[in-house]
Amino acid sequence: MKLVASESLSRLVALHCSACGAEHSAFDLQRVSICCSLPLVADYDLHEPLSRDVIDQADTSMWRYGALLPLLHHENKVTLGEGMTPVLNLPRLAARYELSSLRLKDEGQNPTGSFKARGLSMAISKAKELGVDGCIIPTAGNAGVAMAAYCARAGLRAVVVMPRHTPQAFKEECYWYGAEVELVDGLISDCGARVRQRNADGALLDISTLKEPYRLEGKKTMGYEIAEQLNWQLPDVLLYPAGGGTGLIGIWKAFKEMQALGWLAPETPLPRMVAVQAKNCCPLLETYAGRQPNCHSYQGSATLANGLAVPHPLGEAMMLRVLRESRGTVVSVSEEDMLAGMRDLGQQEGLFVAPEGAAVWMATRHLLATGWLHRDEKILLLNTGNGQKYMDNVAGRAAR
Ligand SMILES: *Cc1c(COP(=O)(O)O)cnc(C)c1O
Ligand SMILES: [Zn+2]
Repeated sequence: MKLVASESLSRLVALHCSACGAEHSAFDLQRVSICCSLPLVADYDLHEPLSRDVIDQADTSMWRYGALLPLLHHENKVTLGEGMTPVLNLPRLAARYELSSLRLKDEGQNPTGSFKARGLSMAISKAKELGVDGCIIPTAGNAGVAMAAYCARAGLRAVVVMPRHTPQAFKEECYWYGAEVELVDGLISDCGARVRQRNADGALLDISTLKEPYRLEGKKTMGYEIAEQLNWQLPDVLLYPAGGGTGLIGIWKAFKEMQALGWLAPETPLPRMVAVQAKNCCPLLETYAGRQPNCHSYQGSATLANGLAVPHPLGEAMMLRVLRESRGTVVSVSEEDMLAGMRDLGQQEGLFVAPEGAAVWMATRHLLATGWLHRDEKILLLNTGNGQKYMDNVAGRAAR
């Protein structure tokens, strides 16, 4: 289906290949780039002046940034109120570790219990706008749940392929949204192979991480929110649990867009971006450290942090670029440390976070110990999900 951007508030102009830059139309259904089979990235007209007044203050969801989002016609919006999650102070942990500013953006408060809601709200809205009938996704849990919910709301068929070992809560929720669920022995990469086989005729839109351009645009809204919620003063360091990497890449994209728009003071430095991985599955760390050329043949294993078990992230090169440009780094965290982090955040701050979020806190402690992070720096943690869904992984592990 051909779309016309006229009468739309969106500043979307084109898509480009993340590897070679080749332009692709943003007004046709696209998957990965034709040239390199790598992720496509949305471009907006950022030269025409646009003031921060364009933010729709009456909208308390991520859709308040509509001009910088890719949806052309608001009647195609598929929303459950995702976004505008709170940025919380962590005063007791800050006092214990003598930190001057420690905050956490709690993405566990999103619809369907994780930040995947942002990406899937956007991707399913665009799928609807582009006339798609059904969607398929390989998932470690949260993305499948979110896709199932937004497809139900859009009236689209949903097929979710997830590892058999995924905690029951994720599977159940998909069934309640009416999705077809297939279980696979293995990790998300094995589920991806099954999706390609099952969808060989291309009847369904493959919503795999970075295999369509719009989940990234939904995740990007975290970057806009962080700036707006912190009164346009960015933190010094931002720590993010990276699996496929859409959050890391998306937040950085938002910071660059806001710089181009003049929404950030010109002298404002952007945060150093830290990617946090599980020791059981840390392809990005291995490539970053030079122990492998890239993640293609990396062997990972399962982890309590299901969302981090991504052995072959398609966006690895894009993540590495963010780390380099931001002077960031990568840290990996053990299974035991994730549980210790869940205890810290639970007992000290009243937060029942996903193991992915707990890993981010433990990475902070590690970087403080090595001196990479300083006690007077403004630190922002991303907790990406709600701990409740992970009960099968963590039940009985609260006490020391
Ligand atoms: C998917 C997921 C991640 C990783 O997100 P990417 O965008 O794939 O890097 C982290 N935490 C949770 C809770 C997730 O569901
Ligand atoms: Zn290309």
